[in-house]
Amino acid sequence: MYWDRSVETLKAVALNQLQLERLRETVRQASNSPFYRKRFEKAGLSAESLKSLEDFRRLPFTTKDDLRIQGLKMLCRPLKEMVRLHASSGTTGQATVIYYTRADIAAWADLVARSMYMAGLRPKDVFQNMMGYGLFTGGLGFHHGAERLGALTIPAGAGNSLRQVQLMLQFGTTAIHIIPSYALYLLNTFAGRGLDPRGLPLRLAFIGAEPHSADTRRRIEAAYGVKAYNSYGLSEMNGPGVAFECPEQNGMHVWEDSFLLEVIDPRTEEPVAPGELGELVFTNLTRQGMPLLRYRTRDLASYDPTPCPCGRTHRRISRIRGRTDDMLIIKGVNIFPIQIEQVLMAMPEVATNYLVELTRQDFHDQMHVKVEVKESFFKEDLKYLQGLKRRITEALKSELLITPRVELVEPHTLPRSEGKAVRIVDRRG
Ligand code: AMP
Ligand code: ZN
Repeated sequence: MYWDRSVETLKAVALNQLQLERLRETVRQASNSPFYRKRFEKAGLSAESLKSLEDFRRLPFTTKDDLRIQGLKMLCRPLKEMVRLHASSGTTGQATVIYYTRADIAAWADLVARSMYMAGLRPKDVFQNMMGYGLFTGGLGFHHGAERLGALTIPAGAGNSLRQVQLMLQFGTTAIHIIPSYALYLLNTFAGRGLDPRGLPLRLAFIGAEPHSADTRRRIEAAYGVKAYNSYGLSEMNGPGVAFECPEQNGMHVWEDSFLLEVIDPRTEEPVAPGELGELVFTNLTRQGMPLLRYRTRDLASYDPTPCPCGRTHRRISRIRGRTDDMLIIKGVNIFPIQIEQVLMAMPEVATNYLVELTRQDFHDQMHVKVEVKESFFKEDLKYLQGLKRRITEALKSELLITPRVELVEPHTLPRSEGKAVRIVDRRG
């Protein structure tokens, strides 16, 4: 049940010791980059003088802007030793680029294999990878992990729904890797062909790359007849394989032998207590080509240091609640998009897609929520639909503290993307 028992079950003291050793090695390695060399000099930090993880906190954070501006100055090995690059999907602003050596690619594949093995993937499985192949890390990251594990891997790529279903039928797919919003969308294709995915050999789904609620996961599990595991990663830390759920499904284990985790208050930059929401900050502990130190992810989550019944000792993080930069301020109220999703996906009448439009009229923010309603409910009479609209409005109001204008629309009428869902359109200028 473990991919690498000794590492996954390392006791806290030994794990901390390993982290400190690897941190020293990383500082040594990072001194090869002009960017970090300068930073180490300024902070008076060296591999030799690093005695504790506290010492390390003297180093300033690395930000997305550093990556954009410094670019190649952050490489710790000559460019000719790099064998691949990836770029972030650019959720916000210009994409950031990460370079990998051969050893980095191998270490990454091993982490992804470890993650999938933890969730139950085995060499006998048929794994269909429905993520975009290309600069985005989700496709190739899982591909190499699954091959490393030994599963038969179908490099399906993103989109092309009919083909996805055909591949599943033809090859008896047992495990899929899929963006949660797309997993819900794909159900339409099954329904359109009169097929029920629960009748297929499918048993496992890895879902990630975008925030999603517990209800979204439950919907996917129920509709496909699978166990769905949350997968978290970001290109700056390789890609997928940073944190992943175990069979307990009670948070994602961060692979702490490879990533040093800090959770900070984004305003004060001080560490937060267990259970408190904060920004995830990671340091690569094993990367050769381009290790990042104290990288501010902008992702918000809490951590849980209590032991997990699965026996793994690596701390767990909660579901990602949002990003520091996707928080909306509407009529002065702070709102994370995931709050809207939580409300909508908990309502059985709501279909799989919705869209939030923000506008400003005479200096007043307006929030307009378009919600796709399931076919069977949409056929009901006007009175029923008005009642439903009122209930959705009330539920949103009690969660968000502002009253949105809700519009019910027919299923499959809202735009959707093949990659990460785009559900907020801000036209406030
Ligand atoms: P990229 O570097 O383009 O692959 O995007 C990485 C970002 O996707 C992360 O920083 C998160 O904001 C988001 N992300 C990845 N996995 C998850 C997940 N399981 N839940 C929520 N957000 C995720
Ligand atoms: Zn566990």
